[in-house]
Amino acid sequence: MDRIIGQYTGSEKGPLLIAVGGLHGNEHAGVEGIKRLLFLLNREEIINPGFVFKGEFIGIAGNKMALENKVRFIDKDLNRIWGTVGDQESAEEYGQMETITAIIEQSITTYAHTQVVLLDLHTTSAPRGIFAVPTDLEGSLFFAESLHCPVIINMMDELKGTMVGYYAGKIIGGSTISSLAFESGQHDDPLSITMSVAALVNCLRSIGCVHEDDVEGKHDDVLKAYANGLPSKCRIIYKHHIQDASKYQMLPGFEGFQKITAGQLLAYDDGVEVRAPMNGRILMPLYQQKGNEGFFIVDEG
Ligand SMILES: [Zn+2]
Repeated sequence: MDRIIGQYTGSEKGPLLIAVGGLHGNEHAGVEGIKRLLFLLNREEIINPGFVFKGEFIGIAGNKMALENKVRFIDKDLNRIWGTVGDQESAEEYGQMETITAIIEQSITTYAHTQVVLLDLHTTSAPRGIFAVPTDLEGSLFFAESLHCPVIINMMDELKGTMVGYYAGKIIGGSTISSLAFESGQHDDPLSITMSVAALVNCLRSIGCVHEDDVEGKHDDVLKAYANGLPSKCRIIYKHHIQDASKYQMLPGFEGFQKITAGQLLAYDDGVEVRAPMNGRILMPLYQQKGNEGFFIVDEG
């Protein structure tokens, strides 16, 4: 697998969209979505003579070694270490972080003429995990809302060391970066690739790389249909931290945004019952062997 999945250069100068897929190596939908977007852009050139692309798109593979091994990470979670300094034992992910940083910075200094958006693509282990995670910078929320799915407004405050958090508002070569994350559904669901493509296309349209008339309505429709019935804006009110995911067992059958009630049995952590401390909707119930968050509880609004 190449680190740079591909790039597309417009015929006119304009904004830069940097997309990263697979910062978690068991989440392939983002990488596949980027490949499919590049295919669509190249095809559009041929079938739509009036097609104009302004600026630049670049797609980057995240945790390469973990992607090749289909695991979340090798030594350290690559989306929890940004802005920190590694020790020798965790060299694998720290080395990758340096490589990705270099590519991002080089792309911005080379291609950024106006706006820069960094979109980080993820998936969840439970079904119906579709949502956008903006930072608290105004531009980021605008892009998140254009994805027609639940927006989790304070999630960035709950997760330390994320790439999106690290780059939020950072100024490189005179350009300020708007960053956000998008969770496109369940890890191996083919629909998660479709949702990633739709999110990428919507982002290109929102920043002005492509004109509205050149974007098919189906990308909006698939996102709206998938997120139908889900709340539009949520806030995290609880995070269940776990020490060892291999000893954590979520009760089967939970989906993203499913309503739960206070006192409801949700999981066993090292054999001990875990019950919901309040009413709300469950987010990212963990059905995999790696990770430090057992689940979140969100509230609408
Ligand atoms: Zn992820």
